[in-house]
Amino acid sequence: MKFAIPRERDDTRVALVPEVAGKVKALGLDILIEQGAGASAYYTDEDYASVATVTSRQEVLQQADILLSINPLPDEELKQLKKGAIVISEFRPFFDKEVTDKLRKMELRGVSMDMIPRTTLAQAMDVLSSMASIAGYKAVLEAARHLPRYFPMMITAAGSLRPAKVLVLGAGVAGLQAIATARRLGAMVEASDTRLAAKEEVESLGAKFVMVEGARDDSGAGGYAVEQSEEFLQRQRAEVQARAAKSDVIITTAQVRGRKAPLLLPKETVEQMRRGSVIIDLAASTGGNCELTQDNKVVEHNGIIIVGNSNLAGLMPQDASVLYSNNVLNFLKTFIKDGQLNVDMGNEIIRGAFFTEEAPAEGQG
Ligand code: NAD
Repeated sequence: MKFAIPRERDDTRVALVPEVAGKVKALGLDILIEQGAGASAYYTDEDYASVATVTSRQEVLQQADILLSINPLPDEELKQLKKGAIVISEFRPFFDKEVTDKLRKMELRGVSMDMIPRTTLAQAMDVLSSMASIAGYKAVLEAARHLPRYFPMMITAAGSLRPAKVLVLGAGVAGLQAIATARRLGAMVEASDTRLAAKEEVESLGAKFVMVEGARDDSGAGGYAVEQSEEFLQRQRAEVQARAAKSDVIITTAQVRGRKAPLLLPKETVEQMRRGSVIIDLAASTGGNCELTQDNKVVEHNGIIIVGNSNLAGLMPQDASVLYSNNVLNFLKTFIKDGQLNVDMGNEIIRGAFFTEEAPAEGQG
């Protein structure tokens, strides 16, 4: 069975790094990889030569029994794949309502890495968490790069400078990593989340938890956030506004799965901030937590810099690719053994990821 990896377009990452390719091969797969696929993550074609056939994009597309890419291929290329091929990508069917039917019509078996449930059992396969953690780390470094001020407190012969104040909105995977990174750089950090469970985690990282009373109960949502009422969001925005005016950096990571990002920083709040302050909006690809965010752009409004980079993991392509590859390997092990497929739709992880297959009827799984 041929397992094929094209070069990513508009992304520095590669879905399979050479050191993990050997382990994928050991599952009984023949690996094909497009020339130059690892180049922007600093892997050469020679690095792959002992475990994979390095070939043209056309060969990769035409021979694939299983095709793996981080970003979905354009339709013209998907159409070139063999009928019945498995295509693994981040298809985001939660947001792209047409993709399921589209792949079914092309007679392809779609597998979406972002649909693997975020459960304890599937943690080692969770690309969303791997990438969010990198994004949280890089968000802080990006903020430090743009901020015309220091992060740590500085006592110098030329005078003393206070530490930067960082406000993190949303304390999930990305948010917690941002808090830890900002603390390591010496900033004073405050964070807010609608999930009460986040309070302890925030405090254990040495940050202050900002509580907004009256959030909807999320205890039945399997660890996910639930959508909040407009009334709650209004109260939250007022609380955020008071703190935003005193913050040098705001990092927003609030999301509710499958929904447009909640608006936490309207224009008026941004306008209360001190000139030179920085907002890093991680939710840019789902509409942004800040009203002024533009996806994949850096904009300035009244001297406030707003960064809407939707692929911060791409700024750290080597480790991002290593983690991505490990997540993919762990996932492949759930349905490939000795070169044979065993797609068991009774398995919750498989059922989540194989989004174009019919789920088994109640009682059969
Ligand atoms: P997550 O689900 O682990 O965390 C999101 C947090 O937001 C949750 O803790 C949730 O309770 C909280 N939240 C929801 N509504 C809120 C509200 N109104 N106020 C405060 N908190 C609220 O998600 P994650 O994996 O950490 O990802 C966070 C965001 O970062 C997502 O939008 C994701 O798409 C994005 N992301 C961006 C990049 C990038 O490179 N820009 C990379 C990975 C993830």
